[in-house]
Amino acid sequence: MSTPAASPVPSPIVDEPLPLPQRWGDAELTRLTAMVRQPSLFYWKGPQTTALVEEFRRHYPLKYCHPCSSGTASLHIAVSALRLRPGDEVIVAPITDMGSVIGILFQQGVPVFADLDPRTYQLDPAAVRRAITAKTRAIMAVHLAGNACDLTALSAIAKEHSLILIEDCAQSWGAKHRGTPVGLVGDFACFSFNDFKHIACGDGGMVATNSEVYGPGLSKWGDKSYDRVTGGRDPEELAPNYRISEPQSAVATAQLTKLNAIVARRNRTGELLTSLLAGAPGVLLPVVAKGDTHSYWFYMLRLELARFRVPRADLAAALTAEGVACGAGYIPRPVYQYPVFRNHNFFGGAWPVRDAGLTKMDYRAVSCPVAEAILTDCLTLRITEAMTDAYVEKVGRAFTTVVKRLAK
Ligand SMILES: *Cc1c(COP(=O)(O)O)cnc(C)c1O
Repeated sequence: MSTPAASPVPSPIVDEPLPLPQRWGDAELTRLTAMVRQPSLFYWKGPQTTALVEEFRRHYPLKYCHPCSSGTASLHIAVSALRLRPGDEVIVAPITDMGSVIGILFQQGVPVFADLDPRTYQLDPAAVRRAITAKTRAIMAVHLAGNACDLTALSAIAKEHSLILIEDCAQSWGAKHRGTPVGLVGDFACFSFNDFKHIACGDGGMVATNSEVYGPGLSKWGDKSYDRVTGGRDPEELAPNYRISEPQSAVATAQLTKLNAIVARRNRTGELLTSLLAGAPGVLLPVVAKGDTHSYWFYMLRLELARFRVPRADLAAALTAEGVACGAGYIPRPVYQYPVFRNHNFFGGAWPVRDAGLTKMDYRAVSCPVAEAILTDCLTLRITEAMTDAYVEKVGRAFTTVVKRLAK
């Protein structure tokens, strides 16, 4: 079936390709050149990894910082440090990367999904409250898309119930909650340097804390439980190898020097888009809480689908035809609906924690209606730091033209 929405446009309103930044260059090369002359590429006390910690601390002045192999690793290390007992629960957002929940499951914990705010797309503090049980140990605040969770409310809940607050900042480098960078409010800050994030070194991560309880032993949880501080190699606990290496640290260090400029540009573009799209029919624009700074890893908005003549996919196709880099939706379904969760297929087709009677969780019965609605009616627009205001204005014009054309 061919729809008028999807027919090719001879001269699209956005008449130039999506501007892409040159993400790596001389700053990375300088560090990499120094690195290849080193006697060792091992991370512990390596000059590149030492520099990475210093540079990271300029943005996030936390006492204990442990660079590691990925964002997933950083979150797994944070969860490991809590020494969950099998069946302990961690409250988490249903729209996120698998990396948020992998560590919880490997530590024999139970991810408990709490619903989101319909306009900020972040954890709804009231839903978090309702999800707390006697087994809850932690809240994982996933700062989605570059926006910030309501850390004031979440840290108050955590305090009230003696829970640990882990911040998953993988998508929100440079974002702020009421003027404070995300990562500096909770007990743990976790970041990713994977290829698709604001800054990237191929793959890498950082887990950091000010906690005197969890900080001193942090590195062990990502380094086979070897004690690099004392040189001890007599593991007392089970931990994977999630080490970063000097090549990754060299690139990540150079990347961090560009972070403020990247975030400033993306924030400007996101805010400009919001002002350009305001008033377009049938769209609900993302809400940024008062005093917060959104760092726009991507731009997500929602459609009031009943107000359009065509389904979401056709609307996205019409936008694409006008040169707007966008996608119909984000992840295909909430994390709890992925086959691995629906089938409780965590370890060889089984879930030992449940088989042992330590949880009654049934992911087939989980429902987060707001998250499900968001994924059904959202559109994601690409944002890059290379977009000029003039380019963004074309995107705004194309977007409003298409939605007006396809509105009922
Ligand atoms: C990317 C991402 C992760 C995982 O990071 P990796 O470096 O890919 O392991 C975790 N949480 C969120 C929200 C992410 O976007």
